[in-house]
Amino acid sequence: MSDYGFTTRTVHAACDAGQEHGAVHAPIHTSVQYGFEKVEDLIGVFQGRIKGGFNYARQGTPTTAMLESVVTRMEDGIGSVSFATGMAAITAVFLTLLRAGDHIVSSKFVFGNTNSLYGTLGDLGVAVTKVDTSTAAAVEAALQPNTRMVFVETLSNPGTRIPDFDGIGRLCRERGLVFVVDNTVTSPWLFQPKTVGASLVINSLTKSIAGHGDALGGAVTDTGLFDWSGYPNIFANYRSGDARQWGLQQIRKKGLRDMGGALSSDHAHRILVGAETLELRLQRTSATALALAKRLQAHPAIAAVHYPMLESHPQHAIAKKHFRAGSWLLAFELADPSRLVPVIDRLRLPVSATGLADTRTLIIPVAPTIFWEAGAEVRADMGIADGLVRLSVGLEDEADLIADFEQALA
Ligand SMILES: *Cc1c(COP(=O)(O)O)cnc(C)c1O
Repeated sequence: MSDYGFTTRTVHAACDAGQEHGAVHAPIHTSVQYGFEKVEDLIGVFQGRIKGGFNYARQGTPTTAMLESVVTRMEDGIGSVSFATGMAAITAVFLTLLRAGDHIVSSKFVFGNTNSLYGTLGDLGVAVTKVDTSTAAAVEAALQPNTRMVFVETLSNPGTRIPDFDGIGRLCRERGLVFVVDNTVTSPWLFQPKTVGASLVINSLTKSIAGHGDALGGAVTDTGLFDWSGYPNIFANYRSGDARQWGLQQIRKKGLRDMGGALSSDHAHRILVGAETLELRLQRTSATALALAKRLQAHPAIAAVHYPMLESHPQHAIAKKHFRAGSWLLAFELADPSRLVPVIDRLRLPVSATGLADTRTLIIPVAPTIFWEAGAEVRADMGIADGLVRLSVGLEDEADLIADFEQALA
């Protein structure tokens, strides 16, 4: 299978695993309890001697396990743990691998709710330093003796900033730091963070991978590159067996069993169906987004367009080197911010809604909504202008979308 291309491997994943009754798609397992004929087997599952066994659905079901194996394949990792949402996955990584007194360095351009979670981490005694990760030197300058982790997003929302992947990957390897990459916007079809030395990869499955706006989910994938045997925060209970699995073992036990943010089988099934068309959707939406970005850039009513595959993008060279395409995420600034509401209201196709990577194009004015709570100072520091608009480009025909923007901006 590993010789095949991305989509061949993805669509054949369920069949390969030898589904019950020859089912071609992963069945939805709704049982909470898993019973055993011999109590020895129940004991074996509890003690970890029987690998891949199920006992209680909070720690996984055959459907979520199938999804985990598909995500692992997509990211070329050694294993994954699925969660109810992307935020549950991110929270589990921080709360299971960090302790009071630890320090992490993060990109200052992260998803708003991740940024808000940093406040909670601070209250629990985990310090976070936020830097502009477009240079590895900024990350290096922020390191402290108690730094355990570096966290970045591949393509920040809404500003489409890209970190210095190669430099940060090298730095984390040299210093023995856990390098966590949130790959939500790019998805494993556009970019595999393992290629730049990521230790753990996060995907909000809700977005690119599910892709239809009908399921929430998240996943953490271990790339196998980090040496957990030297990591001080692995509990004694999880320091057994293959050391490469220690990190995920702890994330699953503490993050799923104890914290409980488990993905339902129903949503895992929907995400699995969505995942099969990831490449097709990303090709289509990336091509449309690039065409629209170029058109907007040439329009007199637009002050700036943020899209990684435009030559004017400050990290265009990194995007060209690492990403297969530019994704569905596009942001632009209206030259006259007072036109923000009328222009969006005149658009006929984009749906005014928060959320990303639906089949329909979604549009949102950034400052008065998703970055309202952050306040003017944070918005200024993050380069979020009053006239900034975020688009999540959908599957509509390119010509229809472009014509709609032209009539709304006229
Ligand atoms: C949406 C998003 C998340 C959170 O995912 P949910 O599934 O909505 O909880 C995390 N990171 C990024 C970059 C996102 O866009």
